[in-house]
Amino acid sequence: MKDRRDKRLNFKIEDPYIDKTQYKDPTICPTCGLVYHEKTWKKDDNLKKQIEKEGSVDYKDCPACRKIKDNYPLGVIHLKGDYLKDASHKNEILNLIRHEAEKEERSNPLSRIMSIEDDKNGFIVIKTTTEGLASRLGKAIKRAHKGELEIKFSEDQKFLRVIWER
Ligand SMILES: [Zn+2]
Repeated sequence: MKDRRDKRLNFKIEDPYIDKTQYKDPTICPTCGLVYHEKTWKKDDNLKKQIEKEGSVDYKDCPACRKIKDNYPLGVIHLKGDYLKDASHKNEILNLIRHEAEKEERSNPLSRIMSIEDDKNGFIVIKTTTEGLASRLGKAIKRAHKGELEIKFSEDQKFLRVIWER
């Protein structure tokens, strides 16, 4: 589901990891177990078992696992502000993030959180494998916790930067 904000940004980040010609059908990602079949990556354990039984399969990391290994995020979210100094607010936000990320992953298994870290100021930095997940998370936090949300492209336009502050 694309939202209005994404359209207004009027620019699509180029994802250098989505190059369908690099994968044979079928391919299994040895890191996360996704299956590449009929031009899409899916989480399907039955299909995976069936393909492995048939034998003729490539094993190669999926685009999401490659981004995670290369530390190449398409979305970076910064959560800032005194609101986060309250441990219960911080926990609520982290739970919301995990919950939204699980929902997103069900519709797009290549869309994932790469890392959640505290920076040196005690703020939270989240990296995602897709820009869509980054903007989804930012909006979910704003909906549930108010605050200010800014969504913009990085200067080199390689990733989407989402800044939430309260
Ligand atoms: Zn994978």
